[in-house]
Amino acid sequence: MSKALETMELLISLAKRRGFIYQGSEIYGGLAGTWDYGPLGVALKNNVRKIWWKRFVDDRDDMYGIDAALIMNQRIWEASGHVASFADPLVEDLKTKKRFRADHLLEEAGIETKGLTIAKMDVLIKEKKIKSPDGNSVGDVRQFNMMFKTHVGANEDAGAVSYLRPETAQGMFVNFKNIMDSFHPKLPFGMAQIGKAFRNEIAPRDFLFRTREFEQMEIEYMVDPKKWTETFDHFREQMIAFTKDVGLTQSKVHELEVADEDRAFYSKRTIDFEFDFPFGKKELYGLAYRTDYDLKQHSEFSKVDLSYYDEETKERFIPHCIEPSFGMDRTILAILTDAYTEDELGGEKRTYLRLAPSVAPYKVAVFPLLKNKPQLIEKARDIFKIIKKVIPEVIFDDNGNIGKRYRRQDEIGTPFCVTVDFDTIEKGAGVTVRNRDSGTQERVEEKDLIEFLKKSIGQ
Ligand code: ATP
Repeated sequence: MSKALETMELLISLAKRRGFIYQGSEIYGGLAGTWDYGPLGVALKNNVRKIWWKRFVDDRDDMYGIDAALIMNQRIWEASGHVASFADPLVEDLKTKKRFRADHLLEEAGIETKGLTIAKMDVLIKEKKIKSPDGNSVGDVRQFNMMFKTHVGANEDAGAVSYLRPETAQGMFVNFKNIMDSFHPKLPFGMAQIGKAFRNEIAPRDFLFRTREFEQMEIEYMVDPKKWTETFDHFREQMIAFTKDVGLTQSKVHELEVADEDRAFYSKRTIDFEFDFPFGKKELYGLAYRTDYDLKQHSEFSKVDLSYYDEETKERFIPHCIEPSFGMDRTILAILTDAYTEDELGGEKRTYLRLAPSVAPYKVAVFPLLKNKPQLIEKARDIFKIIKKVIPEVIFDDNGNIGKRYRRQDEIGTPFCVTVDFDTIEKGAGVTVRNRDSGTQERVEEKDLIEFLKKSIGQ
């Protein structure tokens, strides 16, 4: 097994063991493409959510939060083009009947697929005699719509059909008029939403990278078409700034200008932000200039006027849209794979998560040096309570010996461990604070502890 795949397996097992991420429906044998977040995963995700919301909503005065329903009127997906064309190329193994992504099979055979039509993929698969991963012949390439279909209400007729949303974006476009009517914003302004999206991916894979249920953080930012470039550049910088906020190694983040023939037909410019995952350089986020496509379509399909009147220029037009789109789960995967580190400390091998304090589930852990000394425990508990008032993400641990506790905190990425020992009590000599990455300890006086910790975690 390659080193990269081995790292992924070790990471998946650490994520499970330490309560970050579990396989979905595990006790029933799992459900492909679904993962459940455990307590530490939830904490990590909440931190990412907070950082995103702060940067893109709270710190600005031009952004409106939305939390739209996941199930929406089916006409929305007709208007947006998803019913007709939200599809991936599918082929079937003629023997096993297993289904695969045609573009993935071609790419695995070293053939570039960007910009290829279904017909062209079909020709290539046949010409190059591409087989399924099980070594069997495959059938014709066809389109497979990735939306999860369901019925709303007690009727199962065509009128009751709806879909679990495959993106959060449309929930914002359909609320454009509501935001205009409630708040009367002037252009430019945006709508922001964090929420689940569902795609019936043909081949979910690579842990959290390609799943069937995932979370997105998206912005639909409305502009005057004459001014789209400055907004595009602004969000390009902001997206990079966000990758720094969550601590991603900057040399692993890349920008890819998507070529004309590879862009969605309505997009005039798209940049993909890619990340060096252990399994290759893959899309992390996207930034697209979607023109007035969505609002125009919804205006036409709903017969509701979605134009904007500019008081200054006395012009009426449909605003154009810049869309920064972030995948939450890919962010979590990038953070975890980036943070996963193996080294040697004090002559022993160790594994730790080099998480930025901004995203670490716990910022600080507090221990008594020994577990069966009531005096130490009591003092450590007092210090824990004091820290908790200022830094809520603190954990108390007196299980096992101190070495084990350090290892446990290293594995969950806690940046600092505070230990109360006999000198703390008998000599008033303060506590020791251990740095996760270097493993070094320093003594800090009790009166300086809070300030020291706040500074160390960047608060
Ligand atoms: P891909 O080409 O990898 O399928 P996409 O270009 O279809 O992705 P978008 O439709 O642009 O993705 O979705 C926006 C973001 O949502 C992506 O950049 C990614 O972070 C996330 N995302 C999309 N599909 C999935 C998925 N199946 N699992 C996890 N995250 C996803």
